[in-house]
Amino acid sequence: MREYKITMAEKNVLSRVVCNGCGKEISMDAADHFHGEKTWGYFSDKDGRQDCFDLCEECYDKITENFAVKLK
Ligand SMILES: [Zn+2]
Repeated sequence: MREYKITMAEKNVLSRVVCNGCGKEISMDAADHFHGEKTWGYFSDKDGRQDCFDLCEECYDKITENFAVKLK
């Protein structure tokens, strides 16, 4: 989850990233993390929906470890 603040120039500036998996704030300086975005197509059950999420490295590992086909 990404939170933005609007600056004087009315530009959205990323102010905070929170892991959608565990709710922990992800330091934008130190920790690398996973960011995913998907716009679902017309023929899906989510027609046109835009999903966006962030995962800390721990939550990313928990999810990918359960894949039937492992990451290389
Ligand atoms: Zn997490």
